[in-house]
Amino acid sequence: AAKADGRSRWERWRPELEERVRRRVDLAIGLRDALRRGHLSVAYQPIVRLADGHVQGVEALLRLPPGFERDGVVSPAELVEIAEDTGAITELGEWVLRQAVTQAASWPGISVSVNMSVAQLVSPAFVQLVTGMLDAAGLPPSRLVLELTESQLVDHTGPAPAALQALRDAGIRLAIDDFGTGYSSLSYLLRMPVTAVKIDRSLLAGLGTDPRAARLLEGVVLMARGLELATVAEGMEDLATARALRDLGVQAGQGFALSKPLPASRVRALLRSGPIDLEGPPTDDAVTG
Ligand code: C2E
Ligand code: MG
Ligand code: MG
Ligand code: MG
Repeated sequence: AAKADGRSRWERWRPELEERVRRRVDLAIGLRDALRRGHLSVAYQPIVRLADGHVQGVEALLRLPPGFERDGVVSPAELVEIAEDTGAITELGEWVLRQAVTQAASWPGISVSVNMSVAQLVSPAFVQLVTGMLDAAGLPPSRLVLELTESQLVDHTGPAPAALQALRDAGIRLAIDDFGTGYSSLSYLLRMPVTAVKIDRSLLAGLGTDPRAARLLEGVVLMARGLELATVAEGMEDLATARALRDLGVQAGQGFALSKPLPASRVRALLRSGPIDLEGPPTDDAVTG
């Protein structure tokens, strides 16, 4: 478009870039402010065992205060990205982790999964920080799962296998998030001491229509089984998909069809209400979240 109307690329580009930078600086300041004032929160999305609908864990997801958006919608993913760029992720990530670990200690038996940024993991003090939090909360390490995206794991600036091994040695579990979206080389799976793969929503896309989509997932399941990795599928938006994945051998699932992310105050009631029915119509929880 820059060429078409005869102006140089820079003339077209600069105001956009400035606007983008201004917006990001603005959001970074807003983020620090919200964090210090205690305006952020964490929602918990159930992770459901597909064989019987039992809630085996929850994933902690950052939630922004209503009205945080300024110029257009700000998603948690966008905010995390900005926090990574500005360095605020260390403080933000630590805050989410402490919330999640403390909350999870009050829930019976279930695990809690927390998303990590690589900047947190490369800090030499990280293992001590986490084990200290677990001790303080009284949560067994095996009930904490740290999630790292596939792209962060394979990036050469990513955490050394030794850093991850130290977490594993402490009894903490590690999951590869957004599996199947990052890279073509799977050899990293042999180097990383991970315990689970979270199959990205994009791999579920063709399930109802393209038989090859099911074959692809079967392959992932087989590979995970061979490497003794647990499997969790993300983004199940309908129960038919959940049942199809169960039948393909995927162990657990997460998605709006099973439950939306819930405020901490609603998790206990969900746990008390028993297993989630994969056969029936969506429950209230799935619809209204
Ligand atoms: P993720 O870790 O892959 O989390 C799953 C995302 O999928 C969540 O989006 C969740 O709300 C959404 N989701 C769950 N079920 C469904 C479904 O059935 N359909 C669809 N379309 N989406 C579904 P959310 O909460 O917007 O978070 C987006 C991403 O932001 C996360 O992806 C994660 O990468 C990042 N994130 C969130 N909280 C944190 C955090 O505390 N720290 C870090 N480092 N990253 C975080
Ligand atoms: Mg995640
Ligand atoms: Mg994911
Ligand atoms: Mg993601």
